[in-house]
Amino acid sequence: MSTYLDNNATTRVAPECIEAMLECMEDYGNPSSMHSLGQSAKKRLMDARASLSRLIGASPQEIVFTSCGTESSHMAILGACALSPGKRHIVTSRVEHPSQLALFAHLEAQGYEVTRLDVDGEGRIALDELEKTVTDDTALVSLMWANNETGVVFPVEEAARIAKSAGSFFHTDAVQAAGKTKIDLVAMPADFLSLSGHKMHAAKGVGALFVRKGIKLPPLFFGHQERGRRGGTENLPAIAGLGVASDLAMAGLESGEARMGMLRSKLEKGILETVPIARINGFGAPRVANTTNISFGELESEAILDRLDKAGIQASSGAACTAGGNEPSHVLLAMGLGKSAQAAVRFSLSRYTTEEEIAQVLGILPGIVETMATWRTE
Ligand code: PLP
Repeated sequence: MSTYLDNNATTRVAPECIEAMLECMEDYGNPSSMHSLGQSAKKRLMDARASLSRLIGASPQEIVFTSCGTESSHMAILGACALSPGKRHIVTSRVEHPSQLALFAHLEAQGYEVTRLDVDGEGRIALDELEKTVTDDTALVSLMWANNETGVVFPVEEAARIAKSAGSFFHTDAVQAAGKTKIDLVAMPADFLSLSGHKMHAAKGVGALFVRKGIKLPPLFFGHQERGRRGGTENLPAIAGLGVASDLAMAGLESGEARMGMLRSKLEKGILETVPIARINGFGAPRVANTTNISFGELESEAILDRLDKAGIQASSGAACTAGGNEPSHVLLAMGLGKSAQAAVRFSLSRYTTEEEIAQVLGILPGIVETMATWRTE
C-alpha cells in the first residue's frame, strides 16, 4: 500500500477533472474562434471561470487564468509596482514561498526597499509590526494566506485592511489555502489573490489570479486573451479541470476541512504519544487543516524521509523545490528553530487521505525514529 502525504507539493488529479480534461481534448476548439467548435470551447472557459469565482467569492470578470501560482503572483507583484510608479517600498514576510522571495530579491536589486516581517516561534506575524511598517511610499503588501511548510495561516483579512488604509495594494498567495478553507473576497479587501491548480486536485500548468474589479493590471504576456490581461491561447483542458476542481472543493469544503483536521489530529496525537522527541512546529498558531510539520530533535529529515519512502510513505521536508537539497528550511529558521530547522518532516493530507494511511504512518514512524536516535547515541 502506498501512502501519499505530500499534498502541499502536489495533489492527485481528481477523476472528475481528468474526465473534463479529456472532453476538452476531444472537443478541441480554440475559445477565440467564431465557429461552433470555438464557441463550445468558449463556453467551457466561461463555465470554469464561473466555478472558480464562486469558490473564492469573486466575480468571473475578476479571474485571470495563468500557467501556475508562481506566474499569478509575479503578475500581481510586478503589476502592483508598475501601477505605483512613485513608490519604492514593498512589505512581505520572511517565510513566503521561495518563488516570491526570489522576485522580492530581484526587486530589491532594482532599487526597491523590501521589508520582510519576522515571525514568532509559532510562525505568526505581528499585525502591529505591519502597521508600523507601511507608509505612503508602500506600493504593495504581499503576504501568504497559508504557509506551505507549516500550514500556519496569516491574518490576511486584517493585513489587507491595514495595507488598504495606507493606500497600498494588497496581494495574497493563497496557493495553499484555495480549496482547503473558505475564501471570501467579498468580505476581504485584497486586490490580488494567487492560486494554483495542481495544489487543489486539478492539473499542473494552470493557475489563476484574482484581480479586483477596476484595477487595470498590466500583463506579463501581451495578447487579446483574458481580456488583454494574459496573452496566449488558453490551456483549456487544464482550465476546465480547474473549474471542476473548484466545484468539487466547494461542495466538500466544510466536510473536507473537518475530516482532514480530524485525521491530522490523530496523526499528531499518535506521534506525540509514541515519539518523545517529536515537536510540532506552528502548533500554537491557526493552521490549515491538512498540514503538520514535525521536528525530531536534530535527526536529519532526509534520512527519515528515505526510510518512510522505502516503507511506501511519501512525505517531504518542506518546499518541494528545496527538498533534496538538505538546506535548512528558511521558514523554520525564521521561527528560531536553529539546528532542528534541518530536521523537520512535513505531512500534508488531502481529502482523499484515509484512516488506513494515517495508521500506516503511526505503525512505521516511531520505529524509524527510535532506530536513528539509538544510532546517534551509540
Ligand atoms: N506559493 C506557495 C505557498 C506554494 O506552496 C507554491 C508551490 O509549492 C507556490 C506558491 C508555487 O506554485 P506553482 O507550483 O503553481 O507555481
